[in-house]
Amino acid sequence: MDLGIAGRHAVVCASSKGLGLACAAALAREGASLTIAARTRADIEAAAEAIRRASGVTVFAVAADVTTPEGRAAILAAGPPASILVNNAGGPPRGDVLRFAPEQWLAAVNANMVAAIEMTRGVMDGMIERRFGRVVNITSAAVKAPTADLSLSTAARLGLTGYVAGVARQVARHNVTLNNLLPGFFDTDRFRAGVAGRAKEAGIAPEDQLDRQREAVPARRVGDPAEFGDACAYLCSAQAGFITGQNMLLDGGQFPGTF
Ligand code: NAP
Repeated sequence: MDLGIAGRHAVVCASSKGLGLACAAALAREGASLTIAARTRADIEAAAEAIRRASGVTVFAVAADVTTPEGRAAILAAGPPASILVNNAGGPPRGDVLRFAPEQWLAAVNANMVAAIEMTRGVMDGMIERRFGRVVNITSAAVKAPTADLSLSTAARLGLTGYVAGVARQVARHNVTLNNLLPGFFDTDRFRAGVAGRAKEAGIAPEDQLDRQREAVPARRVGDPAEFGDACAYLCSAQAGFITGQNMLLDGGQFPGTF
């Protein structure tokens, strides 16, 4: 299916690796030009070069921290106005929900709520003017199925989820949509680090911990980031204009409920 976004410009935050990179690669494959960003210059430049080679699209690579106003300004200034925005940032640390300090709550809210809201504000007027906009936020399955150790992530991302629910209805009339993608287990560096951390806590080998996590998924595997990128590209497509304000789980069936 041609997703109808060739020639449109997409900004994908936190995208030198993992889920962000997979979203960028999928959008490039559909012919969208890109601005991609991460803090480590060598990594983001390498990712840009790999995407250019694979897809032939124009890619602006920005070394910037999306959690700062300066970083966000640099990302938005690097290329043409965005018709597509994928919000992403590193996830907050796991820990004891009763022990997090106020600064940790504020850092999580800044990285996983305010950064996405501010990036959205930065692109919204242009999307409305051009009567085409697609915003996708990478949040987490923990929004729908919270666990205590992931409370920093869940609380901050639920704030973003509430923001999306409101603004999506306000701008829908302009063919601008906002949706959240909620990853379960996807095989990325962050996921592997989490497996190693849980293995240490449980006193078992990382491979055994990985098996335990696979067993918890009805699909009996972890997700391939490319699957996540494809779902993101669809939500950014011309055809997805009637899907807005939604929270879409990609978790291999792990969430046990109907809705
Ligand atoms: P990852 O493989 O560790 O990749 C993270 C990417 O974000 C890297 O490119 C990193 O590059 C960049 N980044 C991190 N902080 C940044 C910042 N402040 N500014 C700009 N770029 C930044 O992580 P992932 O697994 O793809 O996870 C992406 C998001 O999904 C995270 O918020 C994570 O919590 C969430 N999530 C992931 C899973 C999963 O199973 N993978 C499940 C649920 C939720 P630099 O370090 O160079 O900046």
